[in-house]
Amino acid sequence: MAAYDYETHDYDVVVVGAGGAGLRATLGMAEQGLRTACVTKVFPTRSHTVAAQGGIAASLGNMGPDHWQWHMYDTVKGSDWLGDTDAMEYLAREAPKAVYELEHYGVPFSRTEDGKIYQRPFGGHTTEFGEGPPVQRTCAAADRTGHAILHTLYGQSLKNNAEFYIEYFAIDLIMSDDGICQGVLCWKLEDGTFHVFNAKMTVLATGGYGRAYFSATSAHTCTGDGGGMVARAGLPLQDMEFVQFHPTGIYGAGCLITEGARGEGGYLTNSENERFMERYAPTYKDLASRDVVSRCMTLEIREGRGVGPDGDHIHLNLSHLPPETLAERLPGISESAKIFAGADVTKEPIPVLPTVHYNMGGIPTNYWGEVLNSTQDDPDRIAPGLMAVGEAGCASVHGANRLGSNSLIDLVVFGRAAAIKAGEVVDAAAAPMKPNQASIDKAFARFDGLRHAKGQTPTADLRLEMQKAMQKDAAVFRTSETLKEGVENMTEIAGKVDDLSVTDRSLVWNSDLMETLELTNLMPNALATVVSAEARKESRGAHAHEDFPDRNDDEWRKHTLAWVNGGVDLTYRPVHLNPLMGHNEGGIDLKKIEPKARVY
Ligand SMILES: Cc1cc2nc3c(=O)[nH]c(=O)nc-3n(C[C@H](O)[C@H](O)[C@H](O)COP(=O)(O)OP(=O)(O)OC[C@H]3O[C@@H](n4cnc5c(N)ncnc54)[C@H](O)[C@@H]3O)c2cc1C
Repeated sequence: MAAYDYETHDYDVVVVGAGGAGLRATLGMAEQGLRTACVTKVFPTRSHTVAAQGGIAASLGNMGPDHWQWHMYDTVKGSDWLGDTDAMEYLAREAPKAVYELEHYGVPFSRTEDGKIYQRPFGGHTTEFGEGPPVQRTCAAADRTGHAILHTLYGQSLKNNAEFYIEYFAIDLIMSDDGICQGVLCWKLEDGTFHVFNAKMTVLATGGYGRAYFSATSAHTCTGDGGGMVARAGLPLQDMEFVQFHPTGIYGAGCLITEGARGEGGYLTNSENERFMERYAPTYKDLASRDVVSRCMTLEIREGRGVGPDGDHIHLNLSHLPPETLAERLPGISESAKIFAGADVTKEPIPVLPTVHYNMGGIPTNYWGEVLNSTQDDPDRIAPGLMAVGEAGCASVHGANRLGSNSLIDLVVFGRAAAIKAGEVVDAAAAPMKPNQASIDKAFARFDGLRHAKGQTPTADLRLEMQKAMQKDAAVFRTSETLKEGVENMTEIAGKVDDLSVTDRSLVWNSDLMETLELTNLMPNALATVVSAEARKESRGAHAHEDFPDRNDDEWRKHTLAWVNGGVDLTYRPVHLNPLMGHNEGGIDLKKIEPKARVY
């Protein structure tokens, strides 16, 4: 192996990732005076959060009555009773505070006539514990909410003296022999140097792994690097079988048309020009939750009522909306529809198809963001020195299905919670630990092996093979047969990592090598997804198993933990059933959130 030199940087905290979650954590850490580094492979404001359109959920009640308990109920029901009750309560209760904080930091929210933050309806968000009409809970900055949040948080982090390391690629975690995370080894893409970030707390905020699939709304940088690093460190990934398909990706291009489009009054039609969601979800229609709408669209297409020459997609209609609404509330998607589908939304429908959008699963954490290294006896055991927030993590507030606009709020609520916790557990006065050289050597050995990979399979070819296999076998609907085939295919494909061919050996802006590292991160995420899905013999949330069409709470109301190491070993962790606050203290009445049939 070539010898690699590196520079060491001592910090209290290193945050890997500068999306909404990473920046909110960075800002919170820095505000408390912790010496904080934020490492990111893309420029902060290019993180995928920038693409979030529709908005951020919080029960502000600006457009009519709302209550955090209703938000919590909707989240529990949306999760199909798989989310952790304590985390979901924390999310719904802290959400208004977190949004007002964003407002005060400077996020330019859209406004109501009387100057309050504008809120729109979103799927699955209701009143009166699911008994009342839809609620307007999703706070929006037109249809560019993520953009507004990301820019504001970056500015605030700089103001608080967080130190940014931009276009540094995190390769692997540095772990002590007794399992404490000590930081991360990074590769500076611009000049090919290496950097050890030696920290008392490492926070993974690396986003999702949508790019394990062929058609996804997520950026090409969403490659599950945090999950890959965690799997290699011998830690588990949780609930990976739950992958969200967004109902309205633009047909062919995969770009997202926000659910806010239906929130503002848009609706779906089939080839008979029928508003078919009225048939499946009589109460909430086009605003049923995403898994439900995606399945209904797939059924319509399967039964021969798809639109287009091949009958293989669906129409989203917006042309009945006032042009002012389109211009003011949905300018970004009007532009996307024009560019990517050639559709003028004021005159014609947009061709859409369910498209991979979000990973409910990820690195298991408690509601403080601390990573869990579960054992049978101690399912909530903490992995010291390591946190995960945002889409990379799994707190778990989204359970088996995430409600729209609940991710942006997850980013800021749990980014903030991680900072509060770090303020308690990180001793800023303590001398830095010495990072484990054996762990650093191991990370370099893997890097060097890939850099000099001389096999037969180009990275792009293997990536495509993986994406096609996942798209085909771990789709909206799954059967025992497709999942079995998926496990076989993905096992074979993952094995071909040993046969990769990398042609560029340089260390400066070597995108071939970087994409190879990303592929080795996507792979364990993809493998965990299909193996966890094959094992789950029920249907719940986004996991629609045609041979087991019902939810089975007796056997399957539990979190899957996937330990990826060559193969995949599965264990299970109980769902947290207890809320944080008793009903007498103003907390939720447990009877309200008992499992029942999930109808919209
Ligand atoms: C098109 C689109 C629209 C959406 N709209 C909404 C919406 O309206 N409302 C909502 O609630 N949710 C929405 N979502 C979901 C939500 O935006 C995402 O789940 C969320 O933004 C993820 O944020 P994050 O901070 O976890 O990660 P990201 O924003 O993906 O950021 C990941 C960060 O990690 C860094 N990183 C990753 N790997 C490495 C590495 N190896 N080394 C160094 N740095 C690394 C990247 O540079 C980046 O800074 C949308 C998602 C998409 C794709």
